[in-house]
Amino acid sequence: MATTIDAEVADDAACAPRPWHAQAPAEVCAALETGIDGLDRAEARRRLHVWGANQLPAAARIHPLARFLAQFNNALIYFLLAAAAAAAVLGHLVDGVVIVIVVLINAIVGFIQEGKAEQALDSIRDMIAPHAVVVRDGERHIIDAREIVPGDVVAVEAGDKVPADIRLLRARGLSADEAVLTGESVPADKREDAVAEKAPLGDRFSMLHSGTLVTTGQGFGIAVATGARTEIGRISSLIGNVQTLVTPLLAQINDFGRRFTWYVSGAAVALLVFAMLFRGYGWVDALMVVVALSVGVVPEGLPAVITITLAIGVRRMAARNAVVRRLPAVETLGATSVICSDKTGTLTKNEMTACRVITARSVSMISGSGYAPEGAATAPGGAAAPPDDVRDQLVRAALLCNDARLVERDGRWSVLGDPMEGALVALAAKAGLHPEAERETWPRIDELPFDAQHRFMATLHDDPRGGRRIFVKGAPERVLAMCAEQAEAGATGPVDPASWQRCIDLAAAEGERVLGFAVKVVGAETERLTFETTETGLTFLGIVGFIDPPREEAIAAVAQCRAAGIAVKMITGDHAGTAVAIARQLAIADAPKAMQGAELDAVGDDDLQRVVDGVSVFSRTTPEHKLRIVRALQANGHIVAMTGDGVNDAPALKQADVGIAMGRKGTEAAKEAAQMVLLDDNFASIVAAVHEGRTVYDNIRKVIGWTLPTNGGEALCIVVAIILGLALPMTPVQILWINMILTVTLGLVLAFEPAEPNVMGRPPRKRRAPILSRLLVWRIVLVSVLFMLGVFGIFHYALATGQSEATARTMVVNTLVVMETFYLFNIRYLHMTSFSLVGAMGTPAVLGAVAAVIVAQLAFTYAPFMHGMFGSAPVAFADGLLIVAIGFLTMVVLELEKIIMRRMAPATAAAA
Ligand code: ATP
Repeated sequence: MATTIDAEVADDAACAPRPWHAQAPAEVCAALETGIDGLDRAEARRRLHVWGANQLPAAARIHPLARFLAQFNNALIYFLLAAAAAAAVLGHLVDGVVIVIVVLINAIVGFIQEGKAEQALDSIRDMIAPHAVVVRDGERHIIDAREIVPGDVVAVEAGDKVPADIRLLRARGLSADEAVLTGESVPADKREDAVAEKAPLGDRFSMLHSGTLVTTGQGFGIAVATGARTEIGRISSLIGNVQTLVTPLLAQINDFGRRFTWYVSGAAVALLVFAMLFRGYGWVDALMVVVALSVGVVPEGLPAVITITLAIGVRRMAARNAVVRRLPAVETLGATSVICSDKTGTLTKNEMTACRVITARSVSMISGSGYAPEGAATAPGGAAAPPDDVRDQLVRAALLCNDARLVERDGRWSVLGDPMEGALVALAAKAGLHPEAERETWPRIDELPFDAQHRFMATLHDDPRGGRRIFVKGAPERVLAMCAEQAEAGATGPVDPASWQRCIDLAAAEGERVLGFAVKVVGAETERLTFETTETGLTFLGIVGFIDPPREEAIAAVAQCRAAGIAVKMITGDHAGTAVAIARQLAIADAPKAMQGAELDAVGDDDLQRVVDGVSVFSRTTPEHKLRIVRALQANGHIVAMTGDGVNDAPALKQADVGIAMGRKGTEAAKEAAQMVLLDDNFASIVAAVHEGRTVYDNIRKVIGWTLPTNGGEALCIVVAIILGLALPMTPVQILWINMILTVTLGLVLAFEPAEPNVMGRPPRKRRAPILSRLLVWRIVLVSVLFMLGVFGIFHYALATGQSEATARTMVVNTLVVMETFYLFNIRYLHMTSFSLVGAMGTPAVLGAVAAVIVAQLAFTYAPFMHGMFGSAPVAFADGLLIVAIGFLTMVVLELEKIIMRRMAPATAAAA
């Protein structure tokens, strides 16, 4: 048996009598030896073995050697290598070798760091691999989309990315965006009927194609082609979504580096000419000095360190359930000033319990918690609830107009499907209905699936007593608007919207989510549900209130946001009363102000921009409202993070500065549009990501703030010495040594810095705040000057105390390295003093780097082979102490400066 299907599927349409889209569903099932109950597990496993995983071949990775060589593809490196060759030819062999070593070390560090960054991104990519719903052995399962095989029955709904080429067996309101395949931007409607054999791809209405997006409706069908054999597989055989490691900031820094190299080259030539013409340098010596100076001043290692800082941020965020899909989000998150969040499941637990049922006849409170079918109805006073046939009808409608299932595992009940629908199944069980038996007695004929736009769901059932019934559930005001009558004791009467509205407001004010229910009796001839038949002439049954408590961690996270100057706005499809009650419980604002979707429609964009800052809760919103809210906030200068889960949320997610999709309940469409995916759908994870984002940005500023004066100090010394005609305090090869030793040690550690304690205690940084704030530039200048003073001070002290030039220069090199080490401790805390126990202790990375520096400097100073290579000489112990004292003094001066700056301009210092 296997050989026939395998052979048939192998060649797909070519070998089959007719292509799949032209075959009737029964023929497709027969050809693939499958049916409505799907494959059994053993057969699915066997087919997976035969056909392989349902994925496109991955794009070939760049070979490591090519990646290593790419490190040298940089104007500065060419320049340095040319200089090394020139030095060697001119007899300065040691200098030439040292330059080559510096270049090599830089390339190795860059290569390793880039590799680590890519690994970090690779490992998180799997965390958001797509899943699909398949029917196997007659039951629905959620599986990794890569495990789909030909013959699998696959279910799809709005927002899904189609996981394979599927011949539809059932389509309800189904349409798909097939632009990736056909270029057609208008979604194509889908149906079950076979189409002409020669129909072009865009007209194959009976097929869903892998890689396209379901825009509306629901459906299921048979997977007929997987992996590279799908239509998309034929067009593009590679997955091109490998992340690039470039962010706007990194691009800015690369650009800065390129321009800087040109300036340095210009200045270097001027200095060369000056040294030769006015200071009597021989051209070879002048060239060596200038080359060393250029090596010293250009921050060639900076982009690599920043890349690793970003990658570390991505890893830390993933550990806190926030998976970054696009690297720029890491930077932007840190500047976020408003977080717009969904309510259900993000701020609340999305663990629903139906707690109240109201009909025209009675009010019943329902006991029990979770999804366990244990509990009973009582009257509000606590007495047993009186019998109410309308309530019984309502509960049946709630069970049948429902796609959820409850399962018990180890005594714990959980829900498969929508939690609110799960709560309704539990309600029905508490009322004594048996879900499976009811579904068999009242078979479902058709349905209109729930969508956020229409805010209701309807199902059509055979009535065991004859005829058919439509059951509707949805947002109560929406359902009320569809009803002419309401069910009363054994009869119907005109619907009383005002009294229902009072009941709804009452339940909503308690923070309950409210749903309305209705019924319509139709003839047995009704086969399909349409909006026309469903939207009028219904009989209102009543409402159900659900509790969905706020997440405890969300309450803490909201408080953190407020302390961090980040506004939180709840944007929900729910009722205003419910939303405001939950907003109060979360303490989103002191007195949360609400705005309804309808009010939003009534105001223009300018007016919205004026009021948007003052509103904390947007209720009964649609995805279009979300887009307008993001735009209005952005127009007010905010950096906006926005959550979303539905297919229609994509535009708002794209517009937001950080679009955040829900990993669990989010659609593939939302995930694709988002920059970040929350694995646990939890608001607290967004705030954790903001915390990490702020830390990353701080660390980048620390890396820059440490690197630039290090280079600046060295350069200043050489330039001043040449211009003033003084003896050079360091030889070119010594400058190269300092550079090499610092690049591989201290230069890396700031990327690993943990967050400063007050990271969420200050306002967000401004949208256009330059990375080199005025305060940071000032500090770079100050530190460069301090370094220069230290260098010349120790050099002249050494010469004045009769030490050799070699010893004096060795002391200079040591002084510079020691000052830089102390400066590292100073810059580890941008926003507070470093004179603290934690400040002095450092992290393992810092301590390891300092230990490496000490060993290297001891070798430089005392190892004879170093003396030969670098012209160094031993330094007396007392002088060593003096050098350390100078380093310490530098730190004291810089800490004083921190205090003065904070006193003078606390806000600027904080924002810096
Ligand atoms: P949030 O946007 O915060 O997630 P939400 O879940 O209330 O809130 P939607 O999913 O857009 O937002 O739902 C809007 C309204 O539609 C709900 O308040 C409810 O009244 C109704 N509704 C939600 N789910 C269903 C469903 N499965 N069947 C019928 N009506 C529903």
